[in-house]
Amino acid sequence: MCKVGTMAEVVIEGKSISVDSCIAECVDRINREHKGSLKTLGCCCGHGKYPRTIVVKSLITGITYEFFSGIEIPRSRNLYYKDSEGIFHLPEMNPL
Ligand SMILES: [Zn+2]
Ligand SMILES: [Zn+2]
Repeated sequence: MCKVGTMAEVVIEGKSISVDSCIAECVDRINREHKGSLKTLGCCCGHGKYPRTIVVKSLITGITYEFFSGIEIPRSRNLYYKDSEGIFHLPEMNPL
């Protein structure tokens, strides 16, 4: 994992977005391999406190879920919440 604020650029649907540098390659790969079936909405490596998460929306079922765990995220905006240490996390995922 990397420090909060260590970012890298990934191009998704022609738009460059900033993601945690240590998961940039993973996000990029998922986007290439699942082009047309998954859209990445957000991600965070967890910075050692939470599991790494990538939130995707299935373009086939319309369901939004966390890629690694399969846990459904019942919203497509305001995915991540900031904790008391300023680390973004999905409330559906428990700390490590
Ligand atoms: Zn990281
Ligand atoms: Zn992060």
